[in-house]
Amino acid sequence: MSLHSSVLSSGQKPQYQRCPDPGCTLLHCPFCPQYNGDYARVETHIQSHLKMVVHHGEFLTYRCNLDCRKGSHYHCCGCGLTFPRRNSLLRHLSTCQSQNSQGANQRPEHQPQAHPVLDEVTPTPTSQQRQQLADLLK
Ligand SMILES: [Zn+2]
Ligand SMILES: [Zn+2]
Ligand SMILES: [Zn+2]
Ligand SMILES: [Zn+2]
Repeated sequence: MSLHSSVLSSGQKPQYQRCPDPGCTLLHCPFCPQYNGDYARVETHIQSHLKMVVHHGEFLTYRCNLDCRKGSHYHCCGCGLTFPRRNSLLRHLSTCQSQNSQGANQRPEHQPQAHPVLDEVTPTPTSQQRQQLADLLK
């Protein structure tokens, strides 16, 4: 699942949008299409977004005013659901299944397998295998 444009990984900066209207030289907030201005104005506006950002794991969720739904809202970085309030997203994040399963499953699955398997798979070659080896080495 690809992340919504209002969900950035930490370290990523919001990209100011050039207006699609060629006659317009203003910058637009990437999360609020109706908000525009010169660099300083949009920069100040982005700072106010940063105060409201939701940090979760490696993700930063910005308040979104795009027309995904009515009114400003937040997107869950795990499942993509939208929430009208920061608090409702925060509550959801502690229970969001897709976020939990992604984070929890990836590492434990890899690590425990690597070592136990090595310990078990040290069988002494069967006489048949020895014979095959000997044949190969001829
Ligand atoms: Zn414009
Ligand atoms: Zn904005
Ligand atoms: Zn949205
Ligand atoms: Zn979710």
